[in-house]
This record gives sequence, structure tokens and C-alpha cells, in this order.
Amino acid sequence: MTKTTIREVQSVKEEAILNIDNSSPQSRELVEKAYKFSDLFGDMLFDEDSITGESRLLEGGYKELPDEIEKFSYYDMVGFEIGELDGDHLGKYDILTRTLTLTENGAKEDFIMLHELIHVHEHLLEDLPNCYMDIALFSLKKELSKTIKNLEEIIFKYNAYFIATDPHNRHFLHSTVFMLKSLDLDLKMGYDLGTVFGYGGFLKNFLIEEYFYVQVQMKKRD
Ligand SMILES: [Zn+2]
Repeated sequence: MTKTTIREVQSVKEEAILNIDNSSPQSRELVEKAYKFSDLFGDMLFDEDSITGESRLLEGGYKELPDEIEKFSYYDMVGFEIGELDGDHLGKYDILTRTLTLTENGAKEDFIMLHELIHVHEHLLEDLPNCYMDIALFSLKKELSKTIKNLEEIIFKYNAYFIATDPHNRHFLHSTVFMLKSLDLDLKMGYDLGTVFGYGGFLKNFLIEEYFYVQVQMKKRD
């Protein structure tokens, strides 16, 4: 079996962007839905007024960003489709084809789309120098710490869980930034914590209480 090099993967991704076609009515509907949520992802696009924006403010002005972020567009850079998926998956983002697929049922729930949109933005940042993921991580941690009392414990145990159970695969698919952003979206959408990460109700308690082996402790509001 031949091994795929990082350079080959990169060129497949660059090629894929040329083939994105969201012109069908079904795709357009999904793109519009993604744009409806776009304000929730300002931090992952380093918008000036977001929690990550401050990192760009140097010598009295906002610095330019790489094209991947500055010119980001759901319509031109992500293919949206309704389709069948393996197993009981309701949504998927394929990083090589840059395609976000939702099943008919998956498309009915906003939190499925939100989960997959985190993947879109996560992979965008992963392809850039580490500083972007690091700033996103730092900023989300700082922000969520205002609400979640034991966030550091959650981060540690989340990662320790993967080291213990699945060191080669799944962690890569759901980075700490992914996990934090999912909690951020739960709070912003008014969902129970774990909803966006765990695709809604049935995994929610499992994720927070057993999967992370930790009970989330919320801070009291004055
Ligand atoms: Zn996922």
C-alpha cells in the first residue's frame, strides 16, 4: 500500500475547491442555513470584534489574515449536500472533498449542522500555522472559564480519555478546540452542554458524565 504524503493530501484539498458546486436548490438551502449561523463562528475566523480578534491588533492596526480566513466563504469553499451516510451518522464533513453532508434526518436538527460547521472551521485552522489553533484554544478557554468552573479539569480529562482509549484516531477528529467550540455553541444556542458535541439528546449525559468522566460545574452568576 502506498502512503499518502501531506503534500498529496494538500493538493487533493486544493483541487477539491475547484469542484465545489452549490448551485442545486438543496445545496443552496443548506448554504443559507450555514450563513444563518455564521455569526457564531466569528472567533474561528478571527473577526475583529470576536474573542480571537485581539490577537490581530498590533501596532495600532489589525493585521491581514491568510486568504483561507480572510476570503472564507461557505458558498465557494464548502460543498453542501443531502445524502446517505454509513451507520447511524447524521452528518459528516469530508476534509479531502471539502463536502459537508447531512442525511435527511440530520438536516432537521440545527445542532447537527453546527457540529459539522465546527469541523469545517477546525480543518481550516489546522491547515494554517499552529498559532491560529493556539489562539483559538486560548481564547475559547478564557471565555468559557467565565461560565464553566472546572474547565481545566474537563480539558485534561477529555484528552486523557483519548490517550487511554483511542490514541491513534478519534482525538484527531475532535480536537480540544472542537470540544470547546461545541460547548461555546451549546451555551450560545441555549442547549444542554454536550448537545453539539454529542449530536443531541441521547449522547449528552454520556458525554458529559461518563465520556469525559467529569461533571460540568457551572459558575454562579451574580
Ligand atoms: Zn464530529
